[in-house]
Amino acid sequence: MAPLGCELSERGNLKAGSDYQTTAPGVFACGDARRGQSLVVWAIWEGREAARDVDAYPMGETSLPASPEL
Ligand SMILES: Cc1cc2nc3c(=O)[nH]c(=O)nc-3n(C[C@H](O)[C@H](O)[C@H](O)COP(=O)(O)OP(=O)(O)OC[C@H]3O[C@@H](n4cnc5c(N)ncnc54)[C@H](O)[C@@H]3O)c2cc1C
Repeated sequence: MAPLGCELSERGNLKAGSDYQTTAPGVFACGDARRGQSLVVWAIWEGREAARDVDAYPMGETSLPASPEL
């Protein structure tokens, strides 16, 4: 179990859904913390996507721009 009560994946990363929310409600993870050691472009891409989900969490919607399709 990681801090804040977040569960870890089998690979030892923070477990998070497609909305980047961990198993602890209101706690989000992206980049290397979620996918494990990877490439900086993924960290940037996921960071932008996660920011949209963080924004939508209390607001119900977001106007932040989406990351480009890959
Ligand atoms: C040696 C090395 C070489 C690499 N070379 C390449 C490369 O050539 N090309 C490439 O695409 N990728 C490369 N990578 C991978 C790339 O650096 C990572 O995928 C990317 O930086 C991940 O970004 P991130 O924001 O998810 O995590 P990080 O960049 O690790 O950022 C996490 C941040 O959180 C901070 N932090 C940690 N714990 C806490 C805490 N408790 N409280 C507050 N802050 C905290 C850390 O200080 C850090 O600033 C390399 C990685 C390494 C280690």
